[in-house]
Amino acid sequence: MDVFDPEYELYVSASQLSTWRLCNRKWWLEKMACAVTEDKGYFTFGTVLHAVLERWLRADDRGVDPGTGEPVELYPEDWHKAEDSGVPVSLAEQLLIKKLVTKAIDEGIVRRLPGREIEAEFSRTLVDDVGIVGFIDVALPGGVEDHKSIGNFRYALGPEQLQQDPQLLLYLHEGILRLEEAGKPVPDKMFVRHNQFGKDTKRPRVTFAEGWVKPDAARKAWAEAQRDAAVMLEQSRTLTHWTEAPEPPTAGQACRKYGGCDFIDICTGRRTITEHNAHTETLNSYRSQLSHRS
Ligand code: SF4
Repeated sequence: MDVFDPEYELYVSASQLSTWRLCNRKWWLEKMACAVTEDKGYFTFGTVLHAVLERWLRADDRGVDPGTGEPVELYPEDWHKAEDSGVPVSLAEQLLIKKLVTKAIDEGIVRRLPGREIEAEFSRTLVDDVGIVGFIDVALPGGVEDHKSIGNFRYALGPEQLQQDPQLLLYLHEGILRLEEAGKPVPDKMFVRHNQFGKDTKRPRVTFAEGWVKPDAARKAWAEAQRDAAVMLEQSRTLTHWTEAPEPPTAGQACRKYGGCDFIDICTGRRTITEHNAHTETLNSYRSQLSHRS
């Protein structure tokens, strides 16, 4: 069943589940009330980097682009602009991306492994009336890989954290279902991996972290996602105002996480959702004009 089938009342992603777990109210504001988030430019670097890596990984083992039959062109015209927004990365970031990608290829951090599926899209029923959708950077018969751009390596996940990372475990679960549906054996252990690319233009750094997990860990993460999705569905049906959504258990922590919540002005009563959206859209448009000029 397609996740965008109108039969689904709600669809979620692994990142929406994380947002909901951090703060129900934040999820409700973003997804149910369509409160706008600030575009801080964090995502442009990662989007452009992902596109370069995707081109390299999609090529065959000889480096030939299957679409053209020619050697893969990693940096075609306009490669430095994010495909969805058209926003470019700066010149310093373009140089950094080229350095990081070359290093990642030379050191075998990104690998053209057999059976790889790049940007593997999936959509499935999570529970009745709720679908889950996702894109796996690299899906392999024995594991999953995600490319991460990292501002500060202090926050990079290590092997033990990866083994418990809900997003990677949900992706791994998708891999398990695909093996089972194809009648293939599921390995006793599967890997979860982050290829980590530093965003500091002064210190180009690329590395990876990898953990091994048993398939049951992925099945457990799926069952937890199902339990949470049932509550999300109930909230999507019954809540009519953000004040009805539960506050996070650790409000201070949740509100400060990731550089501060975008909706603090709403939660503190400084702006209504309508005022917040008007304010944030003006900011986003101003930033977009600036980035196109630079
Ligand atoms: S400001 Fe805090 S309570 Fe309000 S949505 Fe954000 S994380 Fe939740």
